[in-house]
Amino acid sequence: MTASRIDQRLVNAMVWHSRYEEPAEACGLLAMDAQGSIRFVYCLTNSVEATDSFTIAPHEYFGASRHAERNGWEIAGLFHSHPSGHLIPSATDRSNAPGSDWLYVIVGTDEARIFRLVRGQFDQIGAERAS
Ligand SMILES: [Zn+2]
Repeated sequence: MTASRIDQRLVNAMVWHSRYEEPAEACGLLAMDAQGSIRFVYCLTNSVEATDSFTIAPHEYFGASRHAERNGWEIAGLFHSHPSGHLIPSATDRSNAPGSDWLYVIVGTDEARIFRLVRGQFDQIGAERAS
């Protein structure tokens, strides 16, 4: 998995979704192609509508997975926002992290930071600004 860069329009989609959902955290999923590029972001519903946590609505998770599969992609990561602007994984994020090598993107009001989960540890591998 090599995607340390995310296309500008996809960064913008995540940032704008996050602004729209404020003050709650926004969330969504990332689809990756076989070459390791992020091809699509799914801006989904935070079913708990909380300002300090998120849960992706399960039926939307399923729908995104089906869409990705039909396009030959796979769901390879997730994003969520920190409306506070403190863009590092919180204690909640650490305890709820999926146990895989997913990309984990945290979005603020004008940027997205890309983390990779390796054996339960978050390593920041990139950062992109919205335009
Ligand atoms: Zn978080």
